[in-house]
Amino acid sequence: MNFEEIRTLDSAYGAETFSRFPVAFESGKGATLTDTEGKQYIDFGAGIAVNIFGVNDEEWKAAVIEQLGKIQHASNLYYCEPQAKLMELLCARTGARRVFFANSGAEANECAFKAARKYSVMKYGEGRSKIVSLKGSFHGRTLFTLTATGQDAFHKYFAPFVPDMDYAEANMQDISRVADARTCAVIIECVQGESGVSALDKNFVKALESYCKERDILLICDEVQTGNGRTGTLYAYEQYGVQPDLVTTAKGIAGGLPLGACLFFHKTEHVFSPGDHGTTFGGNPVCCAGAVNVISRLTEDFLLEVKGKSEYLRAKLSKLNGVKAVTGLGMMIGLECDLPAKEVAARCLERGLLVLSAHERVRLVPPLTITKAEMDEGISILREVLDR
Ligand SMILES: *Cc1c(COP(=O)(O)O)cnc(C)c1O
Repeated sequence: MNFEEIRTLDSAYGAETFSRFPVAFESGKGATLTDTEGKQYIDFGAGIAVNIFGVNDEEWKAAVIEQLGKIQHASNLYYCEPQAKLMELLCARTGARRVFFANSGAEANECAFKAARKYSVMKYGEGRSKIVSLKGSFHGRTLFTLTATGQDAFHKYFAPFVPDMDYAEANMQDISRVADARTCAVIIECVQGESGVSALDKNFVKALESYCKERDILLICDEVQTGNGRTGTLYAYEQYGVQPDLVTTAKGIAGGLPLGACLFFHKTEHVFSPGDHGTTFGGNPVCCAGAVNVISRLTEDFLLEVKGKSEYLRAKLSKLNGVKAVTGLGMMIGLECDLPAKEVAARCLERGLLVLSAHERVRLVPPLTITKAEMDEGISILREVLDR
């Protein structure tokens, strides 16, 4: 099908939830994508921080295809080798004790919220069910995670929300105003992605950790976007020197296949019993086989390269005319530009570069395997766009 044929069907039949850019991708290699009309693009978006090794990565593809040739699904009624391997890998790399697999970031967060509430009920009885999130946060689109999302714009139309959730500014004064004796958990993103690629202050996150520890409030790190090498370490909390009680992740973990994970550290190790939580598709063997390939390749050496690429990009980007600030962490980069972010994204697309926007900022989350030539080509397109 050509682009117009695809767009006609989508416009006629798709639920009208997306305002899409006028392009459909057909194939690609690494961080270079090709659309249905044969035009090529440099990819600084990675399918919203998902395609960690770009597209068509030979080793990842072989791992996925090998599993497809064995069995594609058996259900969580039975044991599953790729799941078992991935659990061990994640625990070995993070010090987590246990893992639950879901299909998405929102579901990984749902799991963490249920775990936090159960932890509190088991230890203190009912009544300590409040979960605090930060203003400007994004935690997903299910009703629980939408409630946790600290942005009013997402809350229009969908009341009533899940009770006992509250929002604080990212400072200790506001945390101690909002978090009280009825609070069981606080959830943070070390780098807030959706609301503008803003890294939290390190002193704040350290102080929050101590505050939570003293009160047995569980600290949940939502690493759905920041995780899996994106910021230059396997998980971003490592760079903050804190130890969360629950970590959630998704987006990049399986290199482009749908998978989410909730990691349980020692306090929450035994929080769930059979029947408390579950999923039909979560931990799908094909997705887990992809994730085993991803996590085992995110070695210290690979992560050093990611840091190098991030420094290279940041140095070049901060010198561009029309860039007022470069934010974020590692290969999760926000740009404050003279032009509105949405306009930058549209103009880049015309010239063959994919970038995302996050509120007022341009958001760059390229595949971690992006080459120097691809980075240079992308930057030269951004320069053209911002020079106008
Ligand atoms: C994308 C995202 C989510 C939601 O993930 P889905 O897979 O879309 O459900 C949650 N939290 C953060 C920080 C995200 O970036």
